[in-house]
Amino acid sequence: DDDILRARGLIRVVHDHPEPGIAFQDITPLLADARALRACVEAMVAPFAGRFDVVAGLEARGFLLAGAAAVLTGSGLIPLRKAGRLPAPAARADYVLEYGQASIEVSEDLGAGDRVLVVDDVLATGGTLAAAHRLVAARGASVAGSACLLELDGLGGRDVVPDVHTLIGV
Ligand code: 5GP
Repeated sequence: DDDILRARGLIRVVHDHPEPGIAFQDITPLLADARALRACVEAMVAPFAGRFDVVAGLEARGFLLAGAAAVLTGSGLIPLRKAGRLPAPAARADYVLEYGQASIEVSEDLGAGDRVLVVDDVLATGGTLAAAHRLVAARGASVAGSACLLELDGLGGRDVVPDVHTLIGV
């Protein structure tokens, strides 16, 4: 709709960030726009309405959208943090990045039986969301689906993440 089109126009492409040759999709102008922010968060959660109890956001930009999604839908919020940041991690999932590897952790506040909507800003190769799904499963919780604002087309993310909903393809 109109507001999502408007949101698309508010993504800033920053060339050669974080390294030469990378065209970084910067969502900060979109976040700063009240109408675009609300419309995007509403559209991200819509397909999963009534099917989740908590929203899990990925550090760091996923936190911004997940917090809004949780309040909007009357759900709890669970941060999926980079390894070493939580004072009392209860589970961990490791994954491979383009260069090197990374890990995310969750606290015991994510419990067995919780139905989780996983939220991040961007779907690229899908490695981050796939790790988030393993982390949720490690706690005995279930993934209702995943929602991202942007999808970088042609990287295959959609093939490795089940039930993923994205708003804007770039
Ligand atoms: P993936 O694991 O799907 O390959 O990468 C997704 C992760 O990388 C997300 O957590 C996202 O924040 C980050 N990411 C990759 N490329 C971009 C980009 O161009 N813009 C933004 N905002 N994040 C990106």
